[in-house]
Amino acid sequence: MKLDVEYRQEEIDDYAKIKVIKKEFCCEELKKAWGNNFIGLADYENKELVRNKETVSINIYKCSQYPEGAVWDDTRIQFCPFCGKEIEVNVKTISKEQLKKEKYEEQQIRVKEIEDEMKRQQERLDEIKNNLRKEREKIL
Ligand SMILES: [Zn+2]
Repeated sequence: MKLDVEYRQEEIDDYAKIKVIKKEFCCEELKKAWGNNFIGLADYENKELVRNKETVSINIYKCSQYPEGAVWDDTRIQFCPFCGKEIEVNVKTISKEQLKKEKYEEQQIRVKEIEDEMKRQQERLDEIKNNLRKEREKIL
């Protein structure tokens, strides 16, 4: 299978966020195993956070039950266990600076949306006031 991920250098307790950009399965069996959560990105409990870039991997999850609770283990796989095709993970690093820029751009879009909405509301208000004025003229 092929997986394109972004390694986002946000600092969340020593972890970085990973975001799946594109995912192509090599076979139906793997797709099914992925869907059933037997195989997936990072570890079973936390698919979005990794300690470092080198730990971005596709893993098989295993659950061991103990009286104290369940423990999940993950084992890295480099080939599909069903069809044998190589597992390719392309990691693109998004730096802190890029993330700041992204956030800034998102906020700019948000500001524009709010401005547009305010403009529409102002137009509605003007229309209502206008109608009221006309009504007033008729009454008085
Ligand atoms: Zn496969």
